[in-house]
Amino acid sequence: MRVGVLALQGAVREHVLALDALGVETRIVKTEASLDGLDGLVLPGGESTAMTLLAEGGLLDALRCLSHAGFPMFGTCAGMILLADQVEGRAGPIVGGIDISVARNASGRQVHSFETQLDVREIGSEVPAVFIRAPYITRVGPKVDVLARCDDVAVMARQGKILVASFHPELTGDARVHRYFVNMMDGHSGKGA
Ligand code: GLN
Repeated sequence: MRVGVLALQGAVREHVLALDALGVETRIVKTEASLDGLDGLVLPGGESTAMTLLAEGGLLDALRCLSHAGFPMFGTCAGMILLADQVEGRAGPIVGGIDISVARNASGRQVHSFETQLDVREIGSEVPAVFIRAPYITRVGPKVDVLARCDDVAVMARQGKILVASFHPELTGDARVHRYFVNMMDGHSGKGA
C-alpha cells in the first residue's frame, strides 16, 4: 500500500512520519504525475489559499477527478477545506468530493489554536486533537457520517472513502486516526460508499 502526501505547503512531514510509523509506504506529491500508482492521498493542513494557488492547473484538475472517482483521500484542516463541496464565501469547491460546507477560521475556540481530546465514532475516546485556526463544518449532507464533534460542532466526517478533520491528528503521536484512514483505504466502506 502506498499513500501520497500532498506537499505544496503545510504540515507534510508530520503526516509522512505518522504513516511511516504504521509501516505504510509514502510518496511526496507535488505534481500530477506523482499521483500515479497511489492507493490513497493525504491533504495536510496549512493555508488553503496558498495551496489552491500552488495546485492551480493540472494538479487541481487531477485531484478533482480522483476525489469524484471515489479515490481514498484524507484532508486535515486546510486539506478539509480543499475537499469540501462548499467553502463559505467562495463560489465553488476547490477540489470537492465530500458533501459538507465549511467556514474557514470559523468562530469560538477554533479561531485560536488549542489542544483537546475527542470521542471519535469508530475510533475511540480521548483522541488527542490539535486545532490551529481551524475550519468548522457548518453543513453535512445526507451521505456524510459525522465522526466527531467539539463544542457541539462537527469536526470530523466521512463520506465513502473521503475522510476530513478540522484538526491535526499528525501532531499528536496518537496513530489511531491515520490507522483508521489506512483501514478505510483497504476496503472498509462507510455510509456513503
Ligand atoms: N486557516 C487555514 C486555512 O484557512 C487552515 C489552518 C490549518 O490548516 N491549520 O486554510
